[in-house]
Amino acid sequence: MFTIDKILRENIKNIKPYSSARDEYTGTEGIFLDANENPIGSVVGEKYNRYPDPLQRKIKDKLSVLKSVNPAQIFLGNGSDEGIDLLFRAFCRPGIDNIIIMPPTYGMYQVCADINDVEIRSVNLTDDYHLKVDEILKAVDENTKAIFVCSPNNPTGNSFVRADIKRLLTEFEGIVVVDEAYIDFSNEESFVSELVNFPNLLVLQTFSKAWGMAALRIGMAFASEEIIKVFNRIKYPYNVNEATQQLTLEALDLVDKKNTMVANILSERSVLQNAFEQMKTVKKVYPSDANFLLIKIEKAHQLYNFLVENLIIVRDRSKVVLCDDCLRITIGTKDENKELLAIIKNFN
Ligand SMILES: *Cc1c(COP(=O)(O)O)cnc(C)c1O
Repeated sequence: MFTIDKILRENIKNIKPYSSARDEYTGTEGIFLDANENPIGSVVGEKYNRYPDPLQRKIKDKLSVLKSVNPAQIFLGNGSDEGIDLLFRAFCRPGIDNIIIMPPTYGMYQVCADINDVEIRSVNLTDDYHLKVDEILKAVDENTKAIFVCSPNNPTGNSFVRADIKRLLTEFEGIVVVDEAYIDFSNEESFVSELVNFPNLLVLQTFSKAWGMAALRIGMAFASEEIIKVFNRIKYPYNVNEATQQLTLEALDLVDKKNTMVANILSERSVLQNAFEQMKTVKKVYPSDANFLLIKIEKAHQLYNFLVENLIIVRDRSKVVLCDDCLRITIGTKDENKELLAIIKNFN
């Protein structure tokens, strides 16, 4: 059975978090002489002289309605990458513990594991990009702390079978991370609704993709209150800056605008998909639940260079395991996609 005490690092269990001025007095009224801020103002505007809310309470209150989850089960960070990093620091003992990834997948899991000196166990996807659940579970030992499931997966674009992910959640006694960076582009239901069933589930989402806020650096993690409490204890005190907090609050009133952009991108995705399927040089267009397409194409690496010469930059994935001859192409605007197709047709 999963219990957080069984997998938390000893040093983290006993840690005394930095207590900021804004943690010790949380009222909004008063004369604030507690944080060594500039009382007069800011050189760039009035609003930025005070430290921001360390727990981003207003955003969490709004987000909890949108996502149907308790605010105490939400963590906000400097991109969802912060959630990945905190998971390693909270649960993985350097030089002892390990995590499991299923390549080809998002590169940050490996980078964070390497930084933290945590062993990576790789169980490749099947040839058609599905989870080998039995093999993943076989790779688990007593020091396996987390399994990273990216669904929809980057760079393959597909979502994994829901029952496969649930089997991992049921049979593995560590944390199952479900990275849903691309969930807004998918028809699959988010795993956030499964938090009530699985205390070992951690769902990652981001404002960087569908919401169009990559430059502001804000990401979400949803998990049990216990896990979120641990993240809050070890994060940097003011990890989401005030400008980002204000803009995120505004964004949460503009869900329709996000949905309209998503619909536009999805319609462009099918335009591109159809066009690629007509091309003789394209050997395969993989089904996508995301805002990109993975295509297998003749002379992929040469085509990548040709596109760069024409100032179109895509992602060359042709050297990645199970992605021979593959390019990952983000869906652009209608005009950008037209230009892309025209230039690919000139290549041979
Ligand atoms: C883009 C992406 C992220 C998002 O990272 P942020 O730090 O929130 O910008 C996370 N996971 C995957 C799989 C991604 O492709």
